[in-house]
Amino acid sequence: ILALSNDPEIVMEYFVSYPEVAEVLAKGTTKSSVILNDHLQVDLRVVEEKSYGAALQYFTGSKDHNVTLRSLAIKKGFKLNEYGLFDKETEKYISGKTEEDIYKRIGLTYIEPELRENRGEFDAAKNNTLPLLIIQDQIKGDFHVHSEWSDGSDSIETIAEAATKQGYEFIGITDHSQSLKIANGLSEERVKKKILEIEKARKKFPELRIFCGTECDIKTDGSLDYNNKTLESFDFVYIGIHTAFKMDKDTMTKRIINGMSNDNVNFLAHPTGRLIGKRDPYEVDIEQIIDAAKQTNTRLEINSFPDRLDLDDMHIKQAKDHDVKFVLGTDSHTINHLGFLRFGVATARRGWLEKKDILNTFSVRDIEKMIGT
Ligand SMILES: [Zn+2]
Ligand SMILES: [Zn+2]
Repeated sequence: ILALSNDPEIVMEYFVSYPEVAEVLAKGTTKSSVILNDHLQVDLRVVEEKSYGAALQYFTGSKDHNVTLRSLAIKKGFKLNEYGLFDKETEKYISGKTEEDIYKRIGLTYIEPELRENRGEFDAAKNNTLPLLIIQDQIKGDFHVHSEWSDGSDSIETIAEAATKQGYEFIGITDHSQSLKIANGLSEERVKKKILEIEKARKKFPELRIFCGTECDIKTDGSLDYNNKTLESFDFVYIGIHTAFKMDKDTMTKRIINGMSNDNVNFLAHPTGRLIGKRDPYEVDIEQIIDAAKQTNTRLEINSFPDRLDLDDMHIKQAKDHDVKFVLGTDSHTINHLGFLRFGVATARRGWLEKKDILNTFSVRDIEKMIGT
């Protein structure tokens, strides 16, 4: 935590006497560190106003970014540290109040914190080609929500109501497909019934566009879990891997690309299948998937469920560099998950994405055209 104060001693006293503090590791007038009851270490730095931007820049990193930034500063005749930007010769203070001003003095446009990884942001800042990163307010809806028709816990009407409350213009209901029995996947008969149910909900929520989608399984041979006639009856089709994760790389890659080659497919769900801390990604050649996404005009999902965040930022950037487009979905199984979309936005930002890269930012009419419904 970084704070500004003219009276740091009072701030530090308050900080170390916080009721959740289990242990005080250090207490000074500019820096204190504590361990909380839940074992989290928290450091507090109190700085002067003229150093605030410099300190923020210094402590947020990344290290790779900061090393490069400091060397660029030296080339310009400056010295950059956590207290500010100084003249290299005279040590005279030049800047430090805001991050924006520090970057400007070094001859760069402002680099957003999410981009500070030394992955090309310096060249982009010099050439004025940094992305205008997506923001949460640009999101008009969520494409990946499970209802009680498969393994979700809420009715379509409850989801529509929650989406309306969220201020959304559309919502995509995506239940599992028939062979995924464990998740109560929908038979082709039940798909027809669900479509009727969605039509009823549309009458009740005329302001909200309720898309009837599906999250259709890619079977082990790469064929899809519904026939084309059924796939055509959805407004959009997500495909995903939910079984037989342990395949060799080549077979898995071919399996997914085979699925993406079906003309009814719009989106590839959670492209690597990782569950953070629980399950590694399956073996897959992501470069081939990215090429296939481009060729088949399939959008890659940034699954926003906190356990997934799949694709991750590196792969997003890689796909964006190949002109691939994206879709955000929460993979909600209850309406309490709808708020997870912000994690997808955060991941997208780390992957350099802009409004135009993400389908969720378009108007309902444009989306309808793009998904062909
Ligand atoms: Zn899934
Ligand atoms: Zn799902």
